[in-house]
Amino acid sequence: MTAQRTALVTGGGSGIGRAIAHRLAEDGLTIAIVDLDTDSAERVAEGINAKGHQAFAYGGVDVSERSQVDDVVQQVHRTLGAVQVLVNNAGLTGFKKFLHITDEIWDRIMAVNLSGPFYFCQALVPDMIEAGWGRIVNISSSSAQSGQQYMTHYVASKAGLIGLTKSLALELGPEGITVNTIPPGFVDTPMLRKSEEHGLLGGTVDHHADLTPVRRPGKPEDIAAACAFLVSEDAGYITGQVIGVNGGRNT
Ligand code: NAP
Repeated sequence: MTAQRTALVTGGGSGIGRAIAHRLAEDGLTIAIVDLDTDSAERVAEGINAKGHQAFAYGGVDVSERSQVDDVVQQVHRTLGAVQVLVNNAGLTGFKKFLHITDEIWDRIMAVNLSGPFYFCQALVPDMIEAGWGRIVNISSSSAQSGQQYMTHYVASKAGLIGLTKSLALELGPEGITVNTIPPGFVDTPMLRKSEEHGLLGGTVDHHADLTPVRRPGKPEDIAAACAFLVSEDAGYITGQVIGVNGGRNT
């Protein structure tokens, strides 16, 4: 991977996005960390820069707002130039009995988990077409492979992201751009621990780890490793794929 390439990682201030930002920086990319939370985006950028790599924080950005996406992409263009790698990772989880999902809750989940990636793809694909090379990785969810009770809205949004990935891959293949999705399963992040705290997992993290074929929860670094491969030169013949990273929970 050439050192000049820039990757934009949404939700890079926490959990899986944070690990992806660190890993891609270690692999030589310049990282634009986009997050709703300014402090966490800045902390992650500082941590990466302290290790001698290059990262820039763009906080206070809601991926579900088209105008904020376009603004931050303009800022990134001004500071870092064109972007060749996009990781759509920012996401919002949700647990509700089906009949309790209001229009507002449904719309918010769709806006963050599906419209956000749509906006970022539209904003950055022109850079990739111009370069004749690009990589897009969408972080979906293993729940979209299996279904998940009380998560109809979340699962529908992530299944939509898988469909977006497959269709966009067909359209962008001739441009030298690959589009893939990683549906993580059961990864130990603040999102998972919050769900555990609220009793939404149907058992503790340890209980579920015992039921997982590899007998441990996933680490954010597990997802980052798969993502690093998918954005590498070596992965140029892989596109439109759903690459599960879930300890064998979904096969
Ligand atoms: P996390 O620790 O909660 O991190 C998500 C990050 O996205 C946070 O920094 C959050 O910022 C940011 N974010 C949320 N809404 C945003 C918005 N509207 N605009 C910009 N940034 C926003 O969660 P995670 O577990 O790392 O999840 C990362 C991705 O993996 C998500 O798409 C999630 O659905 C998916 N996933 C995770 C698991 C798992 O087991 N952990 C399983 C399946 C799929 P704030 O902190 O300010 O909200």
